[in-house]
Amino acid sequence: MTAPLDLAGIGVGPFNLSIAALLASHRQPGINSAFFDAKPQFDWHPGMLLPGVRLQTSFLKDLVTGVAPQSPYSFLQFLVSHGRFYQFLAAELPAISRAEYGQYLAWVAGQLDNLHFGQELAALDFDGRHFQLHFKAGGPPVAARHICLGTGKPPHIPPCCQPFLGDNCFHAIGIARRQLDVRGKRVVVLGGGQSGAEVFEALLDGHWGQAKALHWVSRRSNFAPLDETPFANEVFTPQYMAAFFDLPDATKARTLADQKLASDGISPDSLKALYQKLYEGKVLGQLPPLSLRPGRHLQAMHQGQGYRLVLENQLDGKTEELEADLVILATGFNQALPAYLAPLQHKLVLDAQGQLSLDRHFQARWTGPETNRIYAVNAGRFSHGIAEPQMSLMCWRSASIINHLAGQPLFATDQKLDLVNWRQDGPDPLALAV
Ligand SMILES: Cc1cc2nc3c(=O)[nH]c(=O)nc-3n(C[C@H](O)[C@H](O)[C@H](O)COP(=O)(O)OP(=O)(O)OC[C@H]3O[C@@H](n4cnc5c(N)ncnc54)[C@H](O)[C@@H]3O)c2cc1C
Repeated sequence: MTAPLDLAGIGVGPFNLSIAALLASHRQPGINSAFFDAKPQFDWHPGMLLPGVRLQTSFLKDLVTGVAPQSPYSFLQFLVSHGRFYQFLAAELPAISRAEYGQYLAWVAGQLDNLHFGQELAALDFDGRHFQLHFKAGGPPVAARHICLGTGKPPHIPPCCQPFLGDNCFHAIGIARRQLDVRGKRVVVLGGGQSGAEVFEALLDGHWGQAKALHWVSRRSNFAPLDETPFANEVFTPQYMAAFFDLPDATKARTLADQKLASDGISPDSLKALYQKLYEGKVLGQLPPLSLRPGRHLQAMHQGQGYRLVLENQLDGKTEELEADLVILATGFNQALPAYLAPLQHKLVLDAQGQLSLDRHFQARWTGPETNRIYAVNAGRFSHGIAEPQMSLMCWRSASIINHLAGQPLFATDQKLDLVNWRQDGPDPLALAV
């Protein structure tokens, strides 16, 4: 690869894969691109593929359909190519399995010849004309005029758990790949979101053997459902994203906190199944000793005979202690600047949280030439709102980035139907209309 690329994508998760698939869908893209990922092959969050886990998003919000329904890389095309379209419809799944969605993503990845796996980026530099991608495996750097950062987010580890990370205290993100045996152990799951629910349910089902005791601890005041109602879903529209984008920072922070359950709650079906399992298991005496503890703030963790967790109960303000042999952290993810950006860091404009400052077009602001662009995906929760780290607007964002890069509307991204007036600039438009 000697001629500089127009676009180098770093990371091939769903978000950059969507950009690659749309570029490949367009007949005359004129954008010479390649995408690089550390993994040996495409694999979507394999470490969280527990039995029965389901997508929290409609399968129609796939890599391409929202902006290019005619693309050969849609989920419907995947079903048709695999001869399962009618059975898929007949199954009337409440939500599709993450395993099948992972198959779809891998099927798309397998058809694109500009994805390069086993290529972990070690450093990203700029030589005055091009970005230079230096890979951990060595070899000549790859030059690119523009880049798109898509390397996901690192797991969040509560500071008091950091010293204990190891075989008996770990983040849930890799749990499905561990040789875990919980027989005879006291297990604590920390975190009351969807991942926490999935891990706790697998423990209840004895997926890793029968634990001696199980505890599920959440900071949230209850085990709360994902809000999937229509007006909550309005927040996952381009119109809302546009309305959110130029709000003052304090309003954004407040709004994001308000909207947490539209993206971070537990699927209502999972909650119901879990509650029913708890009820029947308890009534029939089939469960190990267990406790569910919402509204608890983890204050400290100590090494004792196993671990001792100190919790503050936010309902009554009292301190509680839990003994554990195994602590599973379903504590979410951080927004963090990837280490490979270190050579560029002095040129990057950072926001108040020390993160990339993104403009409306998902471009990271930097002091380098305007003719060289740094786009970033999964980096704009604060700038663009709760939809940004989710798949709902994935293909719309990909199309917006491609249009911006190409300097022309290769994909139609304009929306023409407003059901909610999120903001009004100028006089009342209805008053003018009458
Ligand atoms: C378990 C789980 C379930 C989820 N389910 C849903 C859902 O149902 N609906 C929804 O809308 N959202 C969901 N999300 C949120 C979000 O859609 C996913 O996290 C999604 O995978 C984000 O895509 P991404 O491309 O940004 O990052 P990732 O999928 O994390 O991919 C990043 C890629 O970058 C690569 N990489 C990292 N560092 C380097 C490097 N230095 N060099 C090269 N490559 C590198 C990694 O190998 C990886 O392949 C889920 C998240 C998780 C964790």
